[in-house]
Amino acid sequence: MKRQHTRVGVSIQVRVSSLDVDEFVKHFATNISRGGIFIQCIEPKPKGTVLLFEIQLKGGRVAIRGKGEVIWTRSRSEDEPSTKPPGMGVKFLALDKFSKAVVKRILEIKAGKDTIKAQPRPSVGSIPPQGKPDEEPVAMNFDIEVAPAEESEEEELDDIQVDVSVDDFLESAEEDPPVGTSSSPVIGIDLGTTNSCAAVVIDGKPRIIPSHRGYNTTPSVVAYSEEGKLLVGHEAKAQMELNPINTIYGSKRLIGRHYSSPAVQQVKDRFHYKIVNGPNHEAYVEIRGQMLDLKKVSAFILKEFKELAEEMLRQEVNRAVISVPAYYNENQRQAVREAGNLAGLAVDRIVNEPTAAALAYGYKQGLEKRILVYDLGGGTFDASLLDLYEDVFEVISTGGDSFLGGVDFDNQLIDHVLNEFCQEIGQVPELNRVAMQRLRNAVEHAKCELSEKESTTVHVPFFVKVADQPRDLKIDLNRETQEMLVAPLVERSMQVVEAVLEKAKEQAAKPDDVILVGGQTRMPLVRRHLVQKFKKEPQKGVHPDEAVAIGAALLGNALGKIDNVLLIDVLAVSIGYGLPGGGFRPVLMAGNTLPSSVTFVIRTEQDQQKSLDLLVFQGDSDRVLNNEYLGTVTISEISPSPKGKVQLKVTFNLDREGLLEVASVEHQTEIENTTTMVMKHDEAAIREILRIPGDEHATEQIGIPPKQKPAV
Ligand code: AMP
Repeated sequence: MKRQHTRVGVSIQVRVSSLDVDEFVKHFATNISRGGIFIQCIEPKPKGTVLLFEIQLKGGRVAIRGKGEVIWTRSRSEDEPSTKPPGMGVKFLALDKFSKAVVKRILEIKAGKDTIKAQPRPSVGSIPPQGKPDEEPVAMNFDIEVAPAEESEEEELDDIQVDVSVDDFLESAEEDPPVGTSSSPVIGIDLGTTNSCAAVVIDGKPRIIPSHRGYNTTPSVVAYSEEGKLLVGHEAKAQMELNPINTIYGSKRLIGRHYSSPAVQQVKDRFHYKIVNGPNHEAYVEIRGQMLDLKKVSAFILKEFKELAEEMLRQEVNRAVISVPAYYNENQRQAVREAGNLAGLAVDRIVNEPTAAALAYGYKQGLEKRILVYDLGGGTFDASLLDLYEDVFEVISTGGDSFLGGVDFDNQLIDHVLNEFCQEIGQVPELNRVAMQRLRNAVEHAKCELSEKESTTVHVPFFVKVADQPRDLKIDLNRETQEMLVAPLVERSMQVVEAVLEKAKEQAAKPDDVILVGGQTRMPLVRRHLVQKFKKEPQKGVHPDEAVAIGAALLGNALGKIDNVLLIDVLAVSIGYGLPGGGFRPVLMAGNTLPSSVTFVIRTEQDQQKSLDLLVFQGDSDRVLNNEYLGTVTISEISPSPKGKVQLKVTFNLDREGLLEVASVEHQTEIENTTTMVMKHDEAAIREILRIPGDEHATEQIGIPPKQKPAV
């Protein structure tokens, strides 16, 4: 933040009748341009006056605050008193960051990008860009107060600069983790694979934080434009077809994962952008020659919500509750927490998505129910069974598939449509990334239409060239064909549901209600399967796109309060360490209630051994290669002794958010060792350390439950 200490002569306070920023933007957009503002007043200040101004809404909240210079004036005309209101054109010299966001929004509306339409007043005109007003501005119905001319000092105002470049952001992101202030509201953020959503509790009620374009969700897409500009959300998605290699989507599947993890390897060649081996062997992306940490990619999206919230609430927001899938492993949770910090948010809590959805359904309802949360989003699926009683939300069992979501439904349809097209043109055309992206968008659109109607057409104009002639793709698709193509995917999700119920069988598993979460649950086939299974309609009161964010916001608001809620979660996938030969010894078992702590004993293997490495994995397989590598715990400062003499009591402690801490003490002496956990080994090193035979390969995808055997 640049601080300036310029002397200014006049402070002006302007009161408008608008109740909130939206209303202000609607009514006064025409008075504001990139360059400045027209302020109506009986006695305008002389040209050249530098002033501090503040536009206050009804109730005292500030809409725009900044420093400006009067660059033209108009006095009341004695001859024609009614036509042109007196006032002054004030060129912006500086604005605070909330005001910049408001001005940015106004500019978007004026450029026709936003859904909220500015309401032009009679004799519309505004100060043209760069503060050179030569048109007539419209009158603002301001009630103005001019403070006595006094010396005042400006502080904390930045130069007007609305756009943020990647480099600017990355620089600011290197700062220390933010400390949440008690005055800050806690926003709830559902960081989704396809779309993200945020909410905040205002006057006891959860409210969605709308995007700049007025939508309740924002695409989880980040791009780097040709000019090197950072684009987030709608803007990033809008240019995706033309700039696929610099547009990052689906990053939720990659964040916090080891590069060699089959989960990463599986999507590496399917995604249009470049996924690379980053520091510490984490998956990174490479955009325009720059290595980018996936935590930063998520941070761009989280920061967007922080700014939207600040704009909506007109106050600094630096605290959040962020949701993650229930089966997210320890590293992924940690990575999301760090992403929040990079975005300038202290993360009060990481909450599991199904638990958040359950909160949206049952918070303060005094329910005593068992519910099933069925969450089928863009890229992932999970199912959880929860018991709700009073203010307790207890997860009974949970399961999921991190590679089952709307995008897989799209893939099935793409294959079908391409097949039909090839038959139609009698050849297999060469398709570049742009063509594929256009087809993907058209297919997804058709898929969503088929949730509402029986048939539609997938249409991509000028899709390919055939015999040097541009050719459209136009393929009819009906609901029946679509359902036939995707039925195996829905069945796969139902197998996970079965396994989740099976796990809780001894506890009379039948749910009283089924809650649907995730955009893909809008598909009638999904609902039919659930109705058939549970003999009742899923709950309608919970919005599939918003429930998780709302639940996270409710939790954020409740944390630290007397009427807090109690969340009881379970570990979705076992955590353990690798054994010589490549076996996996689970330590913390799937289904353990969190927090969970287990202590076990290991011995040194060499004489005078000073340090020891434990390779930690998470997964359901008894072979480490099939599980996700979480990192290597190095236990050091071991007392020198002959081999096998020192017994180390190692404790794996998982907190209630599923974050792992490892500690070690020497059994005989109770001397504490130093432990660090770093993702420092690549697959070759893991094989070497654990002496895994060269012919052994992962038989299941890491983090992906096998197709026929859902992970619970
Ligand atoms: P989410 O991650 O919850 O935002 O879900 C996004 C997924 O839901 C995407 O794959 C969308 O194509 C899909 N989706 C959204 N709306 C519909 C709809 N009306 N019918 C079918 N799928 C939909």
